Formats: sequence, C-alpha cells, structure tokens
Amino acid sequence: MLSLYFDGALSVKNMEKPIVCENEALIKVKMAGICGTDHGIAKGYIPNYKGVLGHEFIGDVTDCCIPMWVGRRVTAEINIGCGHCEFCKAGLQKHCVERNVLGIRNKNGVFSEYVTVPIENIVEIPEEISDREAIFIEPLAAALEVLKSVSIATNDKVLIVGDGRLALIIAKVLIRAVGCKLTIVGKHSEKLALLKKTNEVSTINTLLLDDFSNSFDKFNVVIEATGNPQGLALALKHVYPRGTIILKSTYGQSVYFEPSFVVVNEIRIVGSRCGSFISAIDFLKKYKTDFTYLISAEFALCDAIKAFEYSLRPDVIKVLLVF
Ligand SMILES: [Zn+2]
Ligand SMILES: [Zn+2]
Repeated sequence: MLSLYFDGALSVKNMEKPIVCENEALIKVKMAGICGTDHGIAKGYIPNYKGVLGHEFIGDVTDCCIPMWVGRRVTAEINIGCGHCEFCKAGLQKHCVERNVLGIRNKNGVFSEYVTVPIENIVEIPEEISDREAIFIEPLAAALEVLKSVSIATNDKVLIVGDGRLALIIAKVLIRAVGCKLTIVGKHSEKLALLKKTNEVSTINTLLLDDFSNSFDKFNVVIEATGNPQGLALALKHVYPRGTIILKSTYGQSVYFEPSFVVVNEIRIVGSRCGSFISAIDFLKKYKTDFTYLISAEFALCDAIKAFEYSLRPDVIKVLLVF
C-alpha cells in the first residue's frame, strides 16, 4: 500500500498492509487532511518520530472482530491510551503518559491506504455529514475544547489571535454556539475574508495585524491560535486584568514572557488541546455548520509531497489527500 512516510525526510513509499490485532479495526482511508501538526513533525519538532504521518481522516472499516463495524464509514480519536492508568480510566487518554498518538507518536498515521486503530477509538460518521464535512471533525473537536476549558458568555468580549484553519473554526464555533462579541486579528486579508463568506459578518470584527498593532483595546478572553510566540505577546497585551488567555498553539520552542505581568494582573493562562469527536459530530448536526469552504485544494496520495509543499503557501488553509 502507498503511504507518506517520515524518517527525517518525507517520502511516498510502498509499505506492507498493517495486520489488524484483536482489539483493532482495519480502515481503508478515503480522505485525509494535512494540518499544522504534520508540518511540525516534518520540520522535526517531535524528536525521533518515524512513521506514516496524518491523523485527520475518514475511511471505511474493512476488517474488525466486531462484525457490525465492517463497512461503516468512520473516523477515529487520535490518542491511544494504555487503558489502565487513572487518566485512561477517566476517559482522558490524551493525558496518558504511555499514550500513542495516530501519526504523531509511536503509531503509523492515516496518509496511507490502510490504517489500524483500536476499536474504542473509532467513531461512526452519521449519513447526514458528507465526507468533506467529516474531515473537519478532529479540528472542530479541538476548537470546541475551548468552550470546555473556559466558560465564555454572550456578553464576553473575545479576541482570537490568528487566522489559520483552527482560528477560523474557533471563530465559527463562538459565533454559532456562544454569540459573543468577537474580534479576530490575523496577517492574511484573504483568510479573514473567508469568515465574511459565511453571512455572519455582523457579529464579528476582522482586523489585519498591521491595523491592530497600535490598538490598546482589551478583551475578557483572548484565544491564541497563531502557533507563533508573538501571538502570546499580543494576547498578553490585549487581555484585561483578571482576563483569560486560552493557548491553542504549540510553539515547538521556548517562549519568553514576563510572569510578573501575569501575577500583577491576575491573568489566567489556560492550555487547551484535543476535544471530543462526539461533541464535534453533535455540533455539525445541530448547527448545520459547513467548514468545506476552508478546503483550498485536493491531491492524490501519490502527490502527497506536492500537497505538503502546497499546504505551506500562506494563502492556503486546508489541503486534502483524496485516495
Ligand atoms: Zn490536526
Ligand atoms: Zn493510560
């Protein structure tokens, strides 16, 4: 089977089809999304990772010891816990010390014709959600986790720093599920303009970073989703005393900031990562929110390297591999 493999460099190569273990399902991947984490690994941010990349996907189960799964269209939660530690028992596999993570840590990912995942990780995609809508379940789950990390009310003044894919999804979540006063600041007018395509521009203020840099406007909640340490500096500048900064970025490097400023101003800094796929599916069903306008291009798996390069272009948001 064809796979996009990383061992210090990316290559498309032929690999053995994985053997399905007793507690696993074998899935024929139909479509996968390239995300910032994949780029981070390709740049070497996760030391020693070797294997097939990719964790955002949909596919059909072709083999499983529980026959009802065979033939079903699924995606899968990416954190694979040990199953017996206190975190796994509490459903927090993402904090299991011994976890493997699909395409990220010790487990071959989904940029491959076939992938195996534990049965407990697979989630069926309801018929009413199309393949391309379903590709957004993983990033949408991460966006919805913001609302589980911090309660945000309608009258909160919220700033999103960043205009990448996750930032745009978080913006849509806040517009739909909260309806708070929202400002989003980014570097790319064409990305910010995408939010206007969704007919919800009345509740959101989009600003270019250059126009915002002299502003002293402050916010109760600032969501940092740039992946860039300067985003945290901006968040600290624009948060009210006693306000909250939610960090959605992993920087891949150490970041300097002044803790005294956080103490004196009693600022809360909250880290927030992966979320529940079931919540994401419920959101897609309830709000009929379509994120497919974020898809910039689609490539075949054999052109995965080209797709990777294309997805690094500053005007590109989401690139899919379609098998
Ligand atoms: Zn991702
Ligand atoms: Zn565990």
